[in-house]
Amino acid sequence: MLTISNICKSTSIRSYLLLQARHKNKIHWAKLKKKNSPKYKAMNLFDDFYGSIFGNQWESIKEGLLRRSKYAAVINNYGDPEETMEYLTNRGAHCLRNLIKVQKDFQNQYEPEPKQTEPPDHTNKLQAFAEKLHSDEISNIYPQNGNMPEKLDYSEDKLDTDKVKVKEKINVGSKTLDQSLAEAEIDTSRIIDPSLGLASEALYQFLPATKLKGMDEWIPESTHYSYYSTNTDFPLAIEPESELVYPEHLKVFTYEMHSDWDDFPEPKRCQTGVYNYYPLDCGSVLAVLALGLQAGDRVLDLCSAPGGKALIALQTLLPDIIICNDVSISRSNRTKKIFKDYLFDFETSNKWSERVMFKRVDGRVFTDDYGFDKVLVDVPCTTDRHSVNVDENNIFRPDRIKERLKIPEMQSALLTNALRLVKVGGTVVYSTCSLSPVQNDGVVHLSLKHAFESHGIVATVKDMTSSFSGFSSTLKLGAGSAAPKYGQLVLPDVAANFGPTYIAKLVRVK
Ligand code: SAM
Repeated sequence: MLTISNICKSTSIRSYLLLQARHKNKIHWAKLKKKNSPKYKAMNLFDDFYGSIFGNQWESIKEGLLRRSKYAAVINNYGDPEETMEYLTNRGAHCLRNLIKVQKDFQNQYEPEPKQTEPPDHTNKLQAFAEKLHSDEISNIYPQNGNMPEKLDYSEDKLDTDKVKVKEKINVGSKTLDQSLAEAEIDTSRIIDPSLGLASEALYQFLPATKLKGMDEWIPESTHYSYYSTNTDFPLAIEPESELVYPEHLKVFTYEMHSDWDDFPEPKRCQTGVYNYYPLDCGSVLAVLALGLQAGDRVLDLCSAPGGKALIALQTLLPDIIICNDVSISRSNRTKKIFKDYLFDFETSNKWSERVMFKRVDGRVFTDDYGFDKVLVDVPCTTDRHSVNVDENNIFRPDRIKERLKIPEMQSALLTNALRLVKVGGTVVYSTCSLSPVQNDGVVHLSLKHAFESHGIVATVKDMTSSFSGFSSTLKLGAGSAAPKYGQLVLPDVAANFGPTYIAKLVRVK
C-alpha cells in the first residue's frame, strides 16, 4: 500500500543507495553539474575551435574573457559634460580622442607605416576543425569499437545462404517481396570490410539515411561551420581606409592599456535629471566610429536594443534621423528607458520624436522607401564573453542548440538586407561580440555573395587597419594569425580587457 511512511522509507532507501553509489564511484555531483553547464560547454568548444584558429594567442584571449571586462565612458552631452569630464580626468581617465592623437603622432614620428600584410587565411584551419567535429559527432552517436558489428563475410557462397535465410524468415506468402528478393542483387560495393581498419564512424558514414530515423531533430554541430566559404564568384574589392573621422562632439573617456586603475564609479544624475555618462565596451565605440557619421545622416540601427550604440550615435549630434529597430519588445523597452535616462526631455519633446523612431520588425524583412546613409547591423551572436561566464540565458544551453547552429544564417540574412536598405554610396557596419571567423568574416563573405546574386548589389570592403591604428595604446586589435580578412577584431586581453568585438565596414557601390 502507498502510505506516507512507505514513501519516506522508499525515498530514504533510494537516497541511501544513491549515496552509496556516489561514494563507490567517487562521482562528485557538483563537479558533474559544472561539467554539464552551458558555460563549461561553451569554453570546451572555444578551447577546441579558437585554440585551432588563434594558436598560441588563444590562452591570453581566454584569460581576458574570464576576467572582469573594462569599460569606456561616453560623456552625456545632455548632462553636465564639462563637469563630468573634469571628474573623470581627476580619476586618471583620458579622453579617447587625445589617446588616439598621441598614438598617431608617435607612430608618424617613430614607427614605420604599418605594413599592409595579407591577413592569414583561416580556411584550412576551419575546414580541418569542422571535419574533426563531424567525425567526433558521428562516433558519439554510433557504437564504438566494443560494439562493432561482427566481421562480414561477403564471399559469394555466404551471400547466397544469407539470401535463403532471409527468405525463410519472412512470410513466404508475400509473393511480391519474395519475388523481388529473388531478383534482388546485393550491392557488394556498399559492404565495407572492417579488417581495413576503418573506425566505426567511418563505416557508418556509408549507411543509408534511413538508419538515422528517430534522429530527425538532430543537427550536427559541424553544420555551423559550413557557412564559412571563400569562393569569390562575385565582385569583391577590399580598399584601405586611411582616415578615421572622429565626430567633434563625441566625448569618450577610458584608461590607458596596462593602467592599474581602470574602474569607473556609478554614473550620477545631473542637474537636468539625466545621467552624466554611459559606460560600455570600447569596441562598441569603434563600431559607431566606423559608420563615419555626418551631419544630416538618415541612420538605421537594424538590431538596436538595448540601444548602447544608438546612444553613442546620438551623442555625436550628427544624425538627422535614427530608426532603432529590434525584434524584441522587452529589449526595445530597455532602449526607450535608456534614452529617457540619458536624453533630456526624451519623452515629452517633439524634437526627439521627430529624430528618433522605434520599429519592431524582423530585420531580415525590414523595408523602407527612402534608403539610409548609414546602417548598423549589430547582430545577435554567440556573445562569447557572456557564454563562458554566465549560465543564465546562455546560447550553449542544450535546448538552444538549433538556434545557435542557425546563427550565421540569421546574421547573413540581416546583413544582406542591410545592404539592400543602404543607399548607393552609403555605409553598412556589421558587428558581433564573437571571435568566431564563421560569424565574422564568414558572414560578411556570404552576405556580399547573396546580395550580389539575389539583388545585383556590390559593396566594397573597407580595410580599417590603418584608420584604427591609433587605438593601439588603448585596446588590442587582432593582428597576425588573429587578424580577420575583412574586419577588425578587438581582442580581450588582461592589459586592456575590452571585446571581443568584430567590426566590418562595407560601402555600397552598386
Ligand atoms: N546594438 C545593440 C546595442 O548596442 O545595445 C545590441 C544589439 S544585440 C547584440 C542584438 C539584438 O538583435 C538583440 O536585441 C535582439 O533582440 C535583436 N534581434 C535578434 N534577431 C533579430 C531580428 N531578426 N531582427 C531584428 N533584431 C533582432
